[in-house]
Amino acid sequence: MAAGQPAAPGAASSAAGTSTRFLISDLCSELEAYLEPNEVEEVYRAYLLGAESHEGQTRKTGEPYIYHPLAVARTMAEMRMDHQAICAAILHDVMEDTATSKDRIHAEFGEEVAELVDGVSKLTHLQFQSKAEAQAENFRKMMLAITRDIRVILIKLADRLHNMRTLGVMRPDKRRRIAKETLEIYAPIAQRLGMNAIRRELEQLGFSAKHPWRAAVLEQAVQRAGGNRREPMKNIEQAICSRMEAAGIIGRISGREKSLYSIYRKMREKHHSFEDVFDVFAIRIIVDDVDTCYRSLGVVHNLYKPVPGRFKDYIAIPKSNGYQSLHTILFGPQGIPIEIQIRSTEMDRVAESGIAAHWQYKAGGESTRTAQSRAREWLQDVLEIQKSVGNSIEFLENVKVDLFPDEVYTFTPGGDILVLPRDATPVDFAYAVHSDVGNRCVAAKIDRQLAPLSTRLQSGQTVEIVTASGARPNPAWLSFVVTGKARTGIRHCLKSMQSEEARTLGERLLDKALESLGARLSQISPARLDQMLDAMQLEDLDALLIDIGLGNRMASLVARQMVGTEGPEATAATTTTLAVKGTEGLVLSYARCCHPIPGDPIIGQLSAGRGLVVHRESCRNVLHDSRERADRTIALEWSHEPQLQFTAAVRTRTANRRGALADMAAVIADHGSNIEHISFNEQDGHSTAMTFLLTVRDRQHLAQIMRGLRRLSDVLRISRQRG
Ligand code: MN
Repeated sequence: MAAGQPAAPGAASSAAGTSTRFLISDLCSELEAYLEPNEVEEVYRAYLLGAESHEGQTRKTGEPYIYHPLAVARTMAEMRMDHQAICAAILHDVMEDTATSKDRIHAEFGEEVAELVDGVSKLTHLQFQSKAEAQAENFRKMMLAITRDIRVILIKLADRLHNMRTLGVMRPDKRRRIAKETLEIYAPIAQRLGMNAIRRELEQLGFSAKHPWRAAVLEQAVQRAGGNRREPMKNIEQAICSRMEAAGIIGRISGREKSLYSIYRKMREKHHSFEDVFDVFAIRIIVDDVDTCYRSLGVVHNLYKPVPGRFKDYIAIPKSNGYQSLHTILFGPQGIPIEIQIRSTEMDRVAESGIAAHWQYKAGGESTRTAQSRAREWLQDVLEIQKSVGNSIEFLENVKVDLFPDEVYTFTPGGDILVLPRDATPVDFAYAVHSDVGNRCVAAKIDRQLAPLSTRLQSGQTVEIVTASGARPNPAWLSFVVTGKARTGIRHCLKSMQSEEARTLGERLLDKALESLGARLSQISPARLDQMLDAMQLEDLDALLIDIGLGNRMASLVARQMVGTEGPEATAATTTTLAVKGTEGLVLSYARCCHPIPGDPIIGQLSAGRGLVVHRESCRNVLHDSRERADRTIALEWSHEPQLQFTAAVRTRTANRRGALADMAAVIADHGSNIEHISFNEQDGHSTAMTFLLTVRDRQHLAQIMRGLRRLSDVLRISRQRG
């Protein structure tokens, strides 16, 4: 490459004696084997930025920091990853640990590298909560989910691999914690992705760091037992080899060493003794093509008898992570079982590097292909594997967010993971925590920022719900929640709120009705009350009051029954009125036909199930039949301090002049009112008829606005709309 042999980082000269150290020059020559010269240049530039950013920082080992990202890049290079991934590997810690920003990376290396580095930094922020196995599983899923680009995971795995290789310098407690995390999170992810080489190393390092003593004991046992096996093992290999030669098959035969961790795990999980686990010969046969795999199988089955029922054809039916191989177990000499794996060179490559094998950079003229199309191809591969795997959806579920977009993974402030359906909001989150939290929720913080309760949550966000005692769910929430739990929670709470409000209103209505008959509820004898409730098939007085409040029963009728005067002579005394504060509730609403506002003479009309609807007295929708009117309506008056804002409807006829509407809007705004809605009723050559819905405080306020509008020369006519 043009830049020549770059020098080692500044501080390296002091430790120049360590020949094992991997330098940028080593990386570049490794990359030259499969990348274009300009791409290697790019990596070198990334190295310069990384070295500059980490200048002066050292690792726990005492080495200059830059050796760590270089080692990570090396692992990526061994996986034959593209140059963007290598650049991102070199820069993976700069956003987290140095002043270098994402913007700068974006400016110098483009969006893709910047996003990769950002993705790795985000994963670093995830705190591992070592709670339960289920939690760990969720964590794995989430990690994969919030990573939109699988290369982020590969960098993270390479990062963890190097950290594990240099774990010795850490404090013992920290070492154990990191080792545990590696075994519970990172090794299983590597396995999911089919990356067995990395998985094995992570497991090995994790095991000996977490259980140094057990690892040492096991290692000794393996060495002791291994000595006795060398001879028979060699004989078996020899026998297979000559049979294959005789059949004209060319291939590689190797004895497999079981890893300490896999022996340990088998002993623990299956409660086997060391001998049971260890006394198995394991042999791998690698040949050129699929056809030869099956022929080789025939050869070994001919040599030793296969154990019935233990043959598995993962070539025809690959494992969900793409692994392909033939597995069989044979009865060896002296009855010792022999595990055999047979696969092609290509299958072996996939078995060792998994996902990375699918991703592997293809040299030659193809270097111009965008990473995007490679990503798509990779997904295609995954889908192919999926098809041949049949109904196992495990792989798809665990690999890529694009493939399972239906879940979001969110955190509680305590670090617990909540899995919610896509489009879930903080309200769904609150109800998922507990229905009490949902019912009392008033605000939400997403990643410590206040956010609307209707915000759609994203994977990886931490959500904090702000509650207030006495707070109530808002019926409007029903329009945006997505979980059944939130929906039923809100409905249930609203229903009990409605009953509560209806009971209060019913009580007021009944009191008034009794008052007009010169009676009081406390004067009614319990026996009389019970008799009435029985007749009405109601459980108790509350149920009766709720019924009245909801408008299902007429207070005047109930009052007359209670007092025992069946006749209608009570009408003379019905002048008492109920005060209306102006707040709408679940059993009190303002009619949309006449839009009553404070100052208007009003009347309350009970409609079954909806409670009391407030109309203007002049509204034509108010019942006129005197008998019905007496039963279903109630005199109302405004309380002295009506609250909130009301809506009034105003009809206008306006000259067709450009700017007329703007002038009107200005007048309305000047008077401190808002236009809620405008509808155009009709238009002729000269003028337009419109209806405005305006926010007003009361009649006086409305009169001021109308006076202001009337002064405009374009406004030909203006009036308040009647119901
Ligand atoms: Mn790192």
